[in-house]
Amino acid sequence: MTCEICDSKKEFIMESDHANAIIASSAVVEGSVVVAPKKHVAIMELSDDKIIADTISLALDTAGKMFDKYPVQGTYLLVNSGLGAGQTVAHGHIEVVPVHKDILSWEPLAVSSEQLDDLMITLKGYMERSGPKPEIKKQGDTEVVLEKQGDNYLVKSLRRRP
Ligand SMILES: [Zn+2]
Repeated sequence: MTCEICDSKKEFIMESDHANAIIASSAVVEGSVVVAPKKHVAIMELSDDKIIADTISLALDTAGKMFDKYPVQGTYLLVNSGLGAGQTVAHGHIEVVPVHKDILSWEPLAVSSEQLDDLMITLKGYMERSGPKPEIKKQGDTEVVLEKQGDNYLVKSLRRRP
C-alpha cells in the first residue's frame, strides 16, 4: 500500500506522540500544514479517540504557532472526511490553513429560526435512527433520498435538496 502521508519524506514541522505536522504539497492555500495521525487511517473518524484528541491538539498548537509567527490574520482547521467532502489524500488528517486578508472569507449564511428548528429535528432524527444510512441518488440536478423503511417524515423533508 502506498500512502502520500505515510510515505512522505518531508521533515516534520511539529510532532506529538500520535501525530505529525508537515507542509501540504497540495492545499487550499499555500503554506497550509497537514496534521495527520502517525498510524494510517482512511478518515479521521476511524482513529481511536486518544489519537484524534492528540491530532487535534497538535493541529491547534500548529495553528497557534502559525498565528504567532506568520503574517496571517487567523487560521482555519479543515477536516475533509471522504471523497464527497473533498478529501484528496487517502489518510485522514486535519489541514491547518493560514488565513490572509480576503482569502477564504465568506458571508455567514442567514438561517431563520424556523429553518433552524427544522434542521434540528431532521438532524436529530438521522442521528437517532438505527440501520444503514439511506441511499442518495441523483436525478438531474436534484439529490433524492431513497427511504427503504416506509415513509419517514424526516426523510421526506430531505428528499429535495438544492
Ligand atoms: Zn497513510
